Amino acid sequence: MTTPMRRQYLSLKRQYPDCILFFRLGDFYETFDEDAKIVAKVCDVVLTSRPVGNDQRVPLAGVPYHSVDGYLARLVEAGYRVAIAEQVSEPGKGLVEREVVRVVSKGTVTEPGLLDDRRNNYLMAVAFDARGQKAGIAYCDITTGEFAATEIEADGPEAAERRVGEELSRLHPSELIAVDWRPAESSLHNLVASLNPLLSDVEPWQTEPDTAREALQRHFQVSTLDGFGLQGKTQAIRAAAAILAYLQEMQPAALKQLTRIHSYALGEFMMLDEATRRNLELTETIRGGEVKGSLLDVLDCTLTPMGARLLRRWLNQPALDVATINRRLDAVQFFFDDSARRLSLRELLQGVGDLERWANRVVQGVALPRDLVGMREVLARVPQIVATLAPDAARNGGPEPAWLPPLPLCTPVLELLQAAIADEPPATLATPGVIRPGFSEELDELVERSRHAKQWIADLERTERERLNIKSLKVGYNKVFGYYIEITHAHADKVPDDYIRKQTLTNAERYITPELKEYESLVLNADERRLSIEQELFREICSQVAAHHGELLQLAAGLALLDVYASLAEVALLRRYVRPVVDEGPAIEIVAGRHPVVELTLTDEPFVPNDTRLTPEACIHILTGPNMAGKSTYLRQTALITLMAQIGSFVPADAAQIGVVDRIFTRIGASDEIHRGQSTFMVEMVETANILNHATSRSLLILDEIGRGTSTYDGLAIAWAVIEYIHNHPGLRAKTLFATHYHELTDLAERLPHVVNYNVAVDDSGNGKDVVFLRRIIPGKADRSYGVHVARMAGLPTAAVNRAEEILEELERSGAAGPRRLFEPESRRGRPAAMQVSLFADTHPVVEALRRLDINGLTPLDALNRLYELQKMV
Ligand code: ADP
Repeated sequence: MTTPMRRQYLSLKRQYPDCILFFRLGDFYETFDEDAKIVAKVCDVVLTSRPVGNDQRVPLAGVPYHSVDGYLARLVEAGYRVAIAEQVSEPGKGLVEREVVRVVSKGTVTEPGLLDDRRNNYLMAVAFDARGQKAGIAYCDITTGEFAATEIEADGPEAAERRVGEELSRLHPSELIAVDWRPAESSLHNLVASLNPLLSDVEPWQTEPDTAREALQRHFQVSTLDGFGLQGKTQAIRAAAAILAYLQEMQPAALKQLTRIHSYALGEFMMLDEATRRNLELTETIRGGEVKGSLLDVLDCTLTPMGARLLRRWLNQPALDVATINRRLDAVQFFFDDSARRLSLRELLQGVGDLERWANRVVQGVALPRDLVGMREVLARVPQIVATLAPDAARNGGPEPAWLPPLPLCTPVLELLQAAIADEPPATLATPGVIRPGFSEELDELVERSRHAKQWIADLERTERERLNIKSLKVGYNKVFGYYIEITHAHADKVPDDYIRKQTLTNAERYITPELKEYESLVLNADERRLSIEQELFREICSQVAAHHGELLQLAAGLALLDVYASLAEVALLRRYVRPVVDEGPAIEIVAGRHPVVELTLTDEPFVPNDTRLTPEACIHILTGPNMAGKSTYLRQTALITLMAQIGSFVPADAAQIGVVDRIFTRIGASDEIHRGQSTFMVEMVETANILNHATSRSLLILDEIGRGTSTYDGLAIAWAVIEYIHNHPGLRAKTLFATHYHELTDLAERLPHVVNYNVAVDDSGNGKDVVFLRRIIPGKADRSYGVHVARMAGLPTAAVNRAEEILEELERSGAAGPRRLFEPESRRGRPAAMQVSLFADTHPVVEALRRLDINGLTPLDALNRLYELQKMV
């Protein structure tokens, strides 16, 4: 026989088989069976057992309800879903009823303690059509109410997945619902594995096109989705419906705040693939994956969580529309020029909390008293913020600037919160004192009566002593009788008639009176009654606030914008940035540009600024120069300045003119990470193929050391061919910066009209031994590579360095023009000669064996074995 409670548990568990079930039992959430083992391990709590019937015990682990957030955080972070079953009937006779009220997972958490307030937390759905050519993407952040969808139409499945991949890496969802698509078996499996979202699904029927459309129409209470721009976008509709269906199951309260859906087109934004985001270290560093050291870290001076989230979104999604970009730049300029205005705005924004998330918590019905206090503080500052911004327009009598966002004052909400909520209410509604005195007559009366009753009881001892003239009369309290009056036997004759005897002690009697009992019940019930009135009032206040949800969110969005503008202006002043000229033109021209991150990390030497002039006439720059000279820094700085301009930021330069670019591609070679199962060279070639297949004449290509992952000849040949290809296809003749250590490539400038050479200036006046990198990018090609000098600087033993110099001289003497000949016209090419440049005799069997070796097909162990074999041969 199992106990009824066990049966109740098992029936709930059956409804949520893939969740850990938190079963509320008094002050604890208990978990059983396998769940208990997981909870014990992940949350570091004791694993015990509990009897559940005759001779039957099951594993048990419990966590206290008042500190549940911390435990939830650990479980959700570890990738579990947690179903929370609460007691929904009053404890009394028989079994308390329990129901799962919500399920918490990575993408559906709302607990502030479980969220990073400076970034969004996305739940994303991706749906594919049967041919894999159309993909729908929808995402939402239930803590802010953002809900958006788009549809991709591509030439084929691979192209569609690539676009999906770009959105995945932009949004970095914590949870992903895949509809008719298997991420693990797709070309995006590496990306999905590295982003590591919780993978979820919905029932297939819920995303049938007709069902999906109807679900959306029902949710938004509209008869057509045209108003949302979703007409005919079946896959986008299916993805959005998957989100609704999933939330319905997991977190129904969250549906209330998804009041609209924004449909967007990917073509509105600069496209950035995962590799580029990583290489440019936009929001986190390549090594370590931290915000510190990223572009975001340098640019983010925002003061509010909404502002921080907005800036991160912009950075992940630079704009293409020149008008949009210039509007943002105008705003930054305003705060850049007017320091008084900037400082006072920033002072007002200091400490402004998360209005956006609070407003949504109110709508979801999970707001706590302090959320409303926070909201009140923000609202109280809005009039001052508006006043800070207003005088300009008023003074000039002109129209308000286009960048100025609407800032609804939400006065009714402010007045309500000021009148209704106490100055410093307790953290939860379990303690009285949330509602401000004067707000509710009923509540005030109750409080007053209770106060009066307490006072009456407190005074009773004195008044009765005086009235009855019994100095030893005492008023006391015990659990059995409550309040009582105690009179010694010596005064028994003075006891009045209305005293009721309750208890006899050795030398005294204890009495009660009807009046005392009345006051007592007032005192004892008042707290409970007060709590229930306060809770009722709080609910009512929340629903009144919720009615202003739209304005509150508009205000939150306005404050976020102002915060970002003022923050970008602050950074611009602090770091000496200038306003870029952004237009539709074909060129990128930067005067004295700097790398925004590297310039802050240098301690010993000043950062050397450099110009960039990428014009249609000279759009492919080949940059040569020794290792460590500053080539990569220069390439990245050009990309970063362009990107910063397109989010609407000032840029680290003396002047800049940026013709908007549709995509930035980066191929940064020599990254030493080995991707699962693929050689570095393979990865490099896949990325290069992607660039050649997708770049347009409006793109910016950053190619660093292409071809380095393979043998010299292969690498050089590939690099050469890539540049020719870019150059000879006008449709893709993108602005290209190509850094290389293959000096042979500088010949290209003589053959191809749009290719120009640059190199990094080096001072080797110290007779070639002491090389000083000047960090200046100058026209022309580098004459030597200085690799040996770098080796010396790096501390290679002197003997080795000297030997290297000997070999180098030998090579130079013996005509190392070899590789270059390879690329001379057919007629002049002495084919075998190129191959003869070798340190070894060509005929040695080891050389032959090496030639035949397929390195890409070797496991590390094979490689080691082959090395042994080769060694035996010499
Ligand atoms: P390369 O790509 O040529 O090997 P990097 O761009 O990685 O060289 O630069 C190497 C180091 O030189 C950087 O880490 C940085 O410290 C320094 N550096 C690069 N560019 C500059 C510059 N313009 N001014 C000052 N220091 C620089």
